[in-house]
Amino acid sequence: MKTEKSESLYNKALKFMPGGVNSPVRACRNVGRVPLFIDHAAGDKIYDVDGNEYIDYVCSWGPNILGSCHPEVIKAVKKSCEKGLTFGACHEGEIELAHLIRKHIPSMELLRLVNSGTEAVMSAVRAARGYTGRDKIVKFEGCYHGHSDDLLVKAGSGLLTNSIPDSAGVPGSCTENTLLAAYNNKQSVEKLFEKYGEDIACIIVEPCAANMGVVPPQDGFLQFLRNITKEYGSLLIFDEVITGFRLSLGGAQEYYGVTPDLTTLGKIVGGGMPLAVYGGKREVMECVAPLGSVYQAGTLSGNPTAVSAGTATLKILEQSENLYAELERKSRKIELAMKKAGLNVNREGSLITAFFTDKRVVDFNTAITSDTKKFSAFFGYLQDRGIYCAPSQFEAMFVSAAHSEADIDYTCDVISKIAPLVLNQD
Ligand SMILES: *Cc1c(COP(=O)(O)O)cnc(C)c1O
Repeated sequence: MKTEKSESLYNKALKFMPGGVNSPVRACRNVGRVPLFIDHAAGDKIYDVDGNEYIDYVCSWGPNILGSCHPEVIKAVKKSCEKGLTFGACHEGEIELAHLIRKHIPSMELLRLVNSGTEAVMSAVRAARGYTGRDKIVKFEGCYHGHSDDLLVKAGSGLLTNSIPDSAGVPGSCTENTLLAAYNNKQSVEKLFEKYGEDIACIIVEPCAANMGVVPPQDGFLQFLRNITKEYGSLLIFDEVITGFRLSLGGAQEYYGVTPDLTTLGKIVGGGMPLAVYGGKREVMECVAPLGSVYQAGTLSGNPTAVSAGTATLKILEQSENLYAELERKSRKIELAMKKAGLNVNREGSLITAFFTDKRVVDFNTAITSDTKKFSAFFGYLQDRGIYCAPSQFEAMFVSAAHSEADIDYTCDVISKIAPLVLNQD
């Protein structure tokens, strides 16, 4: 495959943006490739500026659960655009989207629309601190919750990929209240609560971790978090920025049957536009300004164009029969092809990661045993055969409703021939 135009654009981009990118993993540095510059996308395909076609398993890192350019979403966005891109004022669309969200995630009794997952999480944590009057928070190693200061500790995703254990520019005072526990490890959480229980405002967790590669919660782990937070008067926050509307219409909380106090949504809920949400128990959310003293605001929050894309997407999701069953079926096909090829796979619904380690991956420490050189070979092998995946071991492969049977079968076929290329090279 030729990538001359991408290479040339990348060299230009390097002059304007750090690493030539607006989000670090896109730079593809650890897989030793030049980032592809995308021209357009449609359905389950993405096309680069050199005219190469790829089956897209990045799906914009999650939002594109319907694939790209679903006609009803595009129609809704166009219609909204023509009425004005932003008002900075109340409009009816906000109510419609809030209603749809609460209908499927009833624990979000009151909610706020914001602009990014980072902002949603930052605001949810602030609300939890404001409500409880406590400062400390518990997060898990390898879980990513956006790039706000106090959550940039062992944060997975791009930080794992680029081996930045923490970020420069974050004062120690910002993270001194961030306590770290190990995912799927109850004792590590118990220890923190025994020592600091009365000072812990909340636990924040990805109910199914997907930013250290996919690591599902073990049986009883989420219920344990629910119980211990209740016992100590702390709040439980599910960061459902990936899992919301992905594992099911009701998100991970419906999928696993555990209800948090606060939830954050992003990615799918914006239907491809910059939109995210935080919300939860009425009593907690009533602490947010103008009702309460927890301040949070946004010039573009509730942006009508973004809202129109989100609303159209959620309507399609709720009206499509079998959509989640089909995602499960197609994803299982890929999982089985990977297993047959000898890969070590974690999958939950339409989130899939192949690890290159003999260990069962259950947390951060086991995730980082994966051989990232082998991952790079795997990534390159797929990309050269027209299969576009995230250029990092510590991300998920996303399956969408737009993935055709033929494209899934082609993907499985390519994977089935992978063993000699990837597994035995050292
Ligand atoms: C992507 C992600 C975020 C951050 O969302 P942005 O929109 O990139 O700021 C937060 N939490 C989780 C679980 C995510 O996957």
